[in-house]
Amino acid sequence: NEIYEEMDPLLERIDEQQRMLKQQTREIARAETMRRDFSSNVSHEMKTPLQVISGYAELMKNGLVDPEDNRKFAGLIYEEAQAMRSLINDVLILSRLDEAAVGDRDQAIDLYAVAQSVANRLVSFSDAEGVSVVIEGESACIAGTDTLVEEMLYNLIENGIRYNHEGGSVTVKVGNDGAGPIVRVSDTGVGIPEEMHDKVFERFFRVDKSRSKETGGTGLGLAIVKHAVMYHGGSIEVKSKLGEGTSFILRFPEMDGGARGRSAATGR
Ligand code: ADP
Repeated sequence: NEIYEEMDPLLERIDEQQRMLKQQTREIARAETMRRDFSSNVSHEMKTPLQVISGYAELMKNGLVDPEDNRKFAGLIYEEAQAMRSLINDVLILSRLDEAAVGDRDQAIDLYAVAQSVANRLVSFSDAEGVSVVIEGESACIAGTDTLVEEMLYNLIENGIRYNHEGGSVTVKVGNDGAGPIVRVSDTGVGIPEEMHDKVFERFFRVDKSRSKETGGTGLGLAIVKHAVMYHGGSIEVKSKLGEGTSFILRFPEMDGGARGRSAATGR
């Protein structure tokens, strides 16, 4: 009997460990499936522009394009090459994020300053689309990696312009609430149907495939944003009404003492 009494907890522990092992095996299998799906999606997304590029180039090579149309065809090839470039760029960023090989969060980054510089970089796009971009609020610093914070705000503001209409606007409001820095990127655009609010953060998910591709979307932007927010210890929430507009709300933890007030983005 004594032996049984001693064995019981031991058996329970073995049971518990077996359960944990099974759970881990399931998680590894899930990650493996996701990895495989992602690779096949990437190959698929690469094939389309590549087919267009080789198709047009072959026509030109064989002298089948009217010399007058040369520029037009070169332009189409250039556009597809740009789409491939964006895709490769986004895939690289995501894989670096997956491996957390994106550098240390050792800089004090002012979200307000980054939002302003991103809006400046996007001026020709917003002008072309007839959408105005306004940055409001005040400085708010997080401990971060500058390239990643830029990428995060770039994708959100770019989407706000892309899924908008002429005369619309994108408003970025940066501030501090009780818990820490907060950024709200709101637009007056097409909106996202309620049932897709979670899905938009998935890799290659698009609400409107043709609009996304037409305007140079890779389908990876919001997946990168979500990863980057989580990397900075923050959270992201989407609020949207179809036909009225969309807001993404990002909340970050308060930065601890040391680097507060110094800003890598402004150098001050
Ligand atoms: P994409 O490169 O296609 O823009 P994202 O990952 O950035 O990919 O976004 C995923 C999808 O979510 C987009 O294809 C679009 O349908 C939708 N979406 C993203 N941002 C907005 C927005 N601000 N307003 C409306 N729809 C949006």
